[in-house]
Amino acid sequence: MPATVDFPDPTPPVKPMSFTKLGFAAVADEEKFDAAVVGAGPAGTAAAITMAKAGLQVALLERGVKPGSKNVMGGILYNHYLEEIVGDAWKEAPLERPIIEERRWMMTADAAIGIDYKNLRNRAHPHSYSVLRARFDAWFAEQAEKAGAMVVPETVVDRLIVKNNRVVGVATGRGDDLFAEVVVVCEGIGLGSGLLEKTHINGSPLRRKLRPEEVAMAAKEIMQLDPGLIEERFNCESGEGCTIECFGDSTMGMSGFMFIYTNKDTLSVGGGALLSEFNATLRSPNQLLEHFKNHPAVKPLLRGAETVEYLGHLIPEGGYRGIPKVYGPGYLVCGDAAMLSNPVHREGSNLAMESGRLAAETVIHAKEASDFSERRLAEYRGRLDHSWIMADMRKYDKAVPLLEHNPQLLTKYPQVADRALDEFFRVDGTSKWDKQKNILKMIRKEGMFRMGWDTFKALWAMK
Ligand SMILES: Cc1cc2nc3c(=O)[nH]c(=O)nc-3n(C[C@H](O)[C@H](O)[C@H](O)COP(=O)(O)OP(=O)(O)OC[C@H]3O[C@@H](n4cnc5c(N)ncnc54)[C@H](O)[C@@H]3O)c2cc1C
Repeated sequence: MPATVDFPDPTPPVKPMSFTKLGFAAVADEEKFDAAVVGAGPAGTAAAITMAKAGLQVALLERGVKPGSKNVMGGILYNHYLEEIVGDAWKEAPLERPIIEERRWMMTADAAIGIDYKNLRNRAHPHSYSVLRARFDAWFAEQAEKAGAMVVPETVVDRLIVKNNRVVGVATGRGDDLFAEVVVVCEGIGLGSGLLEKTHINGSPLRRKLRPEEVAMAAKEIMQLDPGLIEERFNCESGEGCTIECFGDSTMGMSGFMFIYTNKDTLSVGGGALLSEFNATLRSPNQLLEHFKNHPAVKPLLRGAETVEYLGHLIPEGGYRGIPKVYGPGYLVCGDAAMLSNPVHREGSNLAMESGRLAAETVIHAKEASDFSERRLAEYRGRLDHSWIMADMRKYDKAVPLLEHNPQLLTKYPQVADRALDEFFRVDGTSKWDKQKNILKMIRKEGMFRMGWDTFKALWAMK
């Protein structure tokens, strides 16, 4: 079976060539693949690489013209997880800048209260990098091909084939169906039109419909800027990078955050908020992005930068309770499709890669035992439950609802903190004792001690 396919024309043909015409004997003979993976994002590609390295017959199907061409992320990628999948080859990945400094700003309309953390040890041992998914995903999928997986872009999986209440393969626009012992669903969030929502086993969908308060809607611009100017404005040494994440007025008080990430010669500028709050306020992600770009603390950082790409995407934010059944007869679910994401820590790609790896190891064990039964595939859920993924998902289960139900955290409290800091720094003839009293009075009056404790419990200490 060939590992790679050369497509003569980069634009999708009206009727794509069938797998058989492309020369995939396994499809022609209706021989089964060990695994068909839907989606070449971080989850799907990590799963495909892990299984292919173990000698399994794997097909990785991607709807984009190239892997990554339709994908959106802020994005900061964590190299630890990448190294787990590809070993030392991670050093050749098209990463943009290692992150040396992390900044968090709480904003009001005309102020920004910041915590900046510059860790110079990250120069020798970076643990995160800015990335552009169009470049990264294409490279990552090449690693899957090198490992022996059959990577097929320009292929939309229209439906999962279910026979006798078991997923047995995938139907694509290519005409001939592709059968596999296990289908690993890594289609991303797939809201509304996703395979999980439209496939039924024993009369139930593989994932229930998501609620607007379980999903964030995000927009992002890639803005071109001279590398020297990036380094000057963001106080970076040559080739190094920085993140800025902004809360409060930056999202017009909605639950979410905005970001600026430095790439080699571009900035990733974007952010989002809960779909339920966009619906309630009748705002659009584009309005939000324009509001952020025009904030007086942000505007000078973007001056002269030219938008070269505009992207939009959804982010799963349903927490632990939003996780669907991640295994079943003939299928496993990973990454965003399984609602595995941690917006508090801006993590998603790593949960995707790790869940892809755990799913792959489950399929490898199933193959070794020649047992692809649902009971055997349940090992995946057990492995997830004992991993840091589920520990983190449980820890932050209530974080998004806390913000949603306490809008004052992102509206009134930043304003009080702004007034308190104004009082603290202003030199105006008032004694420091009087300033201290004024600040304490302000904080007590607004109930900020109680709220601070509740927030601490929700974001830090909660079990
Ligand atoms: C604006 C934004 C900023 C983010 N920032 C960060 C960040 O800084 N750090 C971080 O770690 N995470 C971040 N995330 C989250 C991260 O992008 C996701 O958690 C991660 O991409 C999930 O990977 P995945 O493989 O599960 O899904 P995806 O990356 O969504 O990949 C799914 C793949 O499946 C393909 N596909 C879908 N349906 C089909 C089909 N029917 N047939 C064939 N192919 C199909 C898609 O084209 C895509 O390639 C961000 C997300 C957004 C939207």
